[in-house]
Amino acid sequence: MSYTLNFTAKTAIVTGGSRGIGKAISLKLQESGMRVAAIYASSDEAAKKFENEHGIKTIKADVSDFASCQQAIALAEDYFGSSIQVLINNAGITRDRMLHKQEEKGWVEVIKTNLISAINMSHCVIEKMRSNKYGRIVNISSINANGAAGQTNYSASKAGIEGFTKALALEGARLGITVNAIAPGYIETDMTQQMDPAILDKIKDKIPVGRFGTAEEIAAMATFLASNEAGFINGAVLAVNGGMRM
Ligand code: NDP
Repeated sequence: MSYTLNFTAKTAIVTGGSRGIGKAISLKLQESGMRVAAIYASSDEAAKKFENEHGIKTIKADVSDFASCQQAIALAEDYFGSSIQVLINNAGITRDRMLHKQEEKGWVEVIKTNLISAINMSHCVIEKMRSNKYGRIVNISSINANGAAGQTNYSASKAGIEGFTKALALEGARLGITVNAIAPGYIETDMTQQMDPAILDKIKDKIPVGRFGTAEEIAAMATFLASNEAGFINGAVLAVNGGMRM
């Protein structure tokens, strides 16, 4: 027996949506019947290839910059001919170093790209979601929102994402808008490829299911949260991490 999810949403925008976890989310939302626009920062060739292969509109924007987010949303709305019903705040970066070795640039970039971005993008879509009395916002946090040495900047940004999620969830709750976060564990993407293989091996030993996660496993949760069936899930932080740090 198969089970099919139902969707009111027909338009979605995914930040960092042409690579890694965001790419898998874009594809899964499209597979669910939505028209999808994917924002990327700099990888022009990869974005063009992704757009050509999958028919998903790619938009170059810097989500850490409010004016750039406003332009990207305007472009997406123009492309769709309607407002955005699903927003996935996925774009993120790491600049890992112990705090005493970090420079200001490293923490400012991480906070702006991982946290301010979600506030920027949500602000751009929330007014129309409120007047349409419908919306789904999914923010990508991290298992390391709970703290990881070498990631004071990243952990702060992701803990901020979780607080932002809960506050915005309260603001839209009576208007058909849900706001949730997913906290992935370690997922196989370019981000984890940059890590020291010896450290990755040690991390893998601590994952109860004995493997890293896939981008598609995060995409499945994001798509469920965008569905009608998830309408009673609001302000939640859902751990998708193979049972790590229960
Ligand atoms: P990747 O490094 O594979 O991809 C990051 C994406 O974000 C890229 O598409 C990139 O664009 C985009 N991006 C980065 N900065 C900006 C910016 N300023 N404006 C617009 N887009 C930007 O990351 P992952 O797929 O691994 O991670 C996705 C999210 O999941 C992040 O928020 C990350 O923190 C989180 N996460 C990841 C985990 C993992 O193990 N991989 C674990 C827990 C959380 P471009 O393609 O142009 O570079």
